Amino acid sequence: MNDKQITVTSPLLPPLEEFIPYLQDIWGRKWLTNNGYYHQKLEEALCDYLGIKYISLFTNGTLPLITALQALRITGEVITSPYSFVATTHSLWWNGIKPVFVDIDPVTCNIDTNKIEAAITPKTTAIMPVHVYGNPCDMQRIQEIADIYGLKVIYDAAHAFGVTIKGKSVLEAGDMSTLSFHATKVFNTIEGGALVCRDEQTKKRIDYLKNFGFAGETTVVAPGINGKMDEIRSAYGLLNLKQVDKAIDKRRQIANQYREALKDVEGVTFMADIPDIRHNYSYFPIFVDAEKYGVTRDELYFKMQEKNIYGRRYFYPLISTFSTYRGLESARLENLPAATKVADSVICLPMYADLEKNDIKTILNAIIKR
Ligand SMILES: *Cc1c(COP(=O)(O)O)cnc(C)c1O
Repeated sequence: MNDKQITVTSPLLPPLEEFIPYLQDIWGRKWLTNNGYYHQKLEEALCDYLGIKYISLFTNGTLPLITALQALRITGEVITSPYSFVATTHSLWWNGIKPVFVDIDPVTCNIDTNKIEAAITPKTTAIMPVHVYGNPCDMQRIQEIADIYGLKVIYDAAHAFGVTIKGKSVLEAGDMSTLSFHATKVFNTIEGGALVCRDEQTKKRIDYLKNFGFAGETTVVAPGINGKMDEIRSAYGLLNLKQVDKAIDKRRQIANQYREALKDVEGVTFMADIPDIRHNYSYFPIFVDAEKYGVTRDELYFKMQEKNIYGRRYFYPLISTFSTYRGLESARLENLPAATKVADSVICLPMYADLEKNDIKTILNAIIKR
C-alpha cells in the first residue's frame, strides 16, 4: 500500500532564489499594482511567447470571461457548452445573459458545430465555446456561423495556453479569448488570467473595464470591475514563463507513457495528438466504457482513491445540471446526450511536470490490474 498521496495536479513553481530578488525590487519600487513595471513586462512577455498582439492581465481567469462580455456589450442569449468548468456559464449569468447549451462532439469534447445553428434565436448575440483540454475547437466553422448570423465569438481558452495550429496561436480566433493562470493550469501566477483581443482600442477598453471603468483621473466610462493583477504575481509569472516549455515537454513524455501503457486496455480510451497542433498536455483524460472495462467509471475512480491516487472527474457533473441552470430548456438531458455520456465516463489522470516515474507506474497498475 502506497502511503503517498498522488494528486491530480501539482503547481509549477519558480525557483525561490530567483523570486527573492524580484521581491526585493518590488519592495524598492513601492508600486504594488495598477499597471506596474512587472505587469507591463509580463504582458509583453506573454504576447511574445504566445504569438499574439494584445493581452490584458487579470487577477483570475473568471473576470476576463465576465469582462469580455461587457467589452463587447453582449446581451440576450449566448450559445455555450455544458462540458466545461462552471466559470464559463457563470460569466454569462453574472452579465444577465441566458446561457443556451449545445451538445458536444464526443471525440473532441468541444461544442458540436453541427448543432449550433439550431440553437440560434433572434436573441442570440454570441457563441462562447471552450477549447476543452486544450484541443482546438473547429474555429473555422464557428466563425462561418458567427459571420452568417452576425454573432460575436468569445473563446474560453483557459486550457489552451501555448496551443498553436501550424505555428499560429489558437488565441487569435474569434473576437476574444480568455486564459486562466490558476495554480492548477499549465502556466500559473497562483491566481491569474488574461483577456486576448485583436486591436489596441479594444485593449484600452478592457483595461478601463478591469479598473472600475476609469478612462482618466475623473472619467468613468462603464461600470467596470476591479480585475487587476498585482506586481508580485506578475513577477512570479515572468519567472514561470521561462520554464513553461520545459514543463510542457515533460507533460508530453508523461502523456506518451500513459498512452503506450493503456493502448491495449479494453474499455479505456484516451485522446490522440492531432497533426499540426502543438499541444500543451494540460490534462490527460481517460474515458471508461463500463461494459467493456468491466468496472464503472465511479468504481475505478474510488478504487484509485483507496490506493491514494486522486484523479478528477473533469468535467462532471455537467454545468447544465447545477441548480442555477437545470431549469433551462437547453439543459434537458435529451438535448445533451454526448456531453452526458462523456461526463459519465471521464477521469483525468494526474498530470504535471514533476510527476514521478514510480507514481506513474502506481497509477497505471491501478487501471490495468483493476
Ligand atoms: C480554470 C478555468 C476557468 C476559470 O479560471 P480561474 O482562474 O480559476 O478563475 C474558466 N474556464 C475553464 C475552462 C477553466 O478550466
